[in-house]
Amino acid sequence: MTEKLAIHGGPKTKETPFGTGKRFGEEELQQLREALEQDTLFYHYGEKVKRFLKKFNGMYGVRHSVAVSSGTAAIHVALGAAGITAGDEVITSPITDQGTVIGILYQNAIPVFADVLPDTYNLDPVSVEARITKRTKAIVVVHLAGNPCDMDAIMGIAHKHSLKVIEDCAQSYLSEYKGKLVGTIGDYGCFSTNDFKHISTGDGGMVTINSADEEDYVIAHAFADKNYQRIGTKVARDIHHLAPNYRMTELQGAVGIAQLDKLAGICNKRKEYGAMLTEGLAGFRCLFPPAVTEGATSTYWFYLFRLNTHLLNANVDEFVSALNAEGIPCIRGYIPQPVYLQPMFQKKEAYPGTNYPFSLSDVSYEQGICPNAEEILQTSVRIGISEFYTEGDIRDMIDAIRKVAAFYQKEEGN
Ligand SMILES: *Cc1c(COP(=O)(O)O)cnc(C)c1O
Repeated sequence: MTEKLAIHGGPKTKETPFGTGKRFGEEELQQLREALEQDTLFYHYGEKVKRFLKKFNGMYGVRHSVAVSSGTAAIHVALGAAGITAGDEVITSPITDQGTVIGILYQNAIPVFADVLPDTYNLDPVSVEARITKRTKAIVVVHLAGNPCDMDAIMGIAHKHSLKVIEDCAQSYLSEYKGKLVGTIGDYGCFSTNDFKHISTGDGGMVTINSADEEDYVIAHAFADKNYQRIGTKVARDIHHLAPNYRMTELQGAVGIAQLDKLAGICNKRKEYGAMLTEGLAGFRCLFPPAVTEGATSTYWFYLFRLNTHLLNANVDEFVSALNAEGIPCIRGYIPQPVYLQPMFQKKEAYPGTNYPFSLSDVSYEQGICPNAEEILQTSVRIGISEFYTEGDIRDMIDAIRKVAAFYQKEEGN
């Protein structure tokens, strides 16, 4: 017997409001006051960005990182520091934020999309290796929604073909892969503190520099600051190549110091809630919870599960509408379509009126190049996770999803 769905006039599963809370409090205010009292908001003169990075480096066990103005900037800085330049190809994931590809194109390099795995939604190492050409210089891995990529395989490929590895950790704070934090495994790790991420400074980002060579830090630091070298007291303005200004201000650094104190708690709650959902959704043929990569932990920036529509008497949009009616906010997919299906890639026109830099490569952005990515975005349901939710909220979500799945799942053998 299945229960009558709310969408058909039955009782709604979630009657109580979801847990909420405030992300910013007295701690941030105190830090901001101190920042303003310095009478400078410039990172090089003040102490807040420096302290923010010191604290972040301590949490991550890295020697150096650079503070920047966004996650997009972080990835651009890593690419610039890695020496990515006009005509290079950079392999990345088609299921990601636009910020992953912006820096590639601003370096006049060419994004090449490899397919993802159907259960983790992260880059498939086999597809990555198949996309390597003589132009390939780097891989930007995206640890999607808190779930680490298969980094052993990625690093193995990178070493074999002498490629740089940049980790996009914008959605994956404190996620571990085989005992290491993501962002410390590749050459560079890139983080975002935009207002939607685990922690927020309004906008902002960080780049870890994981090589033992001090010079790599100097190069990355300069690339975020017009290629001015402002380390210690000396400033060098001896410009050899183009670099943007992506500096973080003292106000962002100040908020970041207070936010870092909350990060472990936020990640632990999300980890717990994601695991609860996966356990709670077991047992349906029509429904697949996201797989966490072997040897890894996920800190769930969001929760994306898949439906096997062949086993359902509903399409994904009907499933989503039924869940919404039960009181569970959710949407189909994460982004509407894989990044390469955007008009910009279809027309190969990043800069209006020219096909450069795409014209330097014979890369393909045809529909069908990443079948798993295309199918995932068509057949998945995304529900938000918040550290402010209660365990009761998660149980209600599970009950609602199970109720809707039980109603629409076809009888065995059909
Ligand atoms: C948010 C995000 C970015 C970009 O970060 P911004 O701070 O918004 O520029 C890049 N990659 C991924 C995977 C993201 O989620």
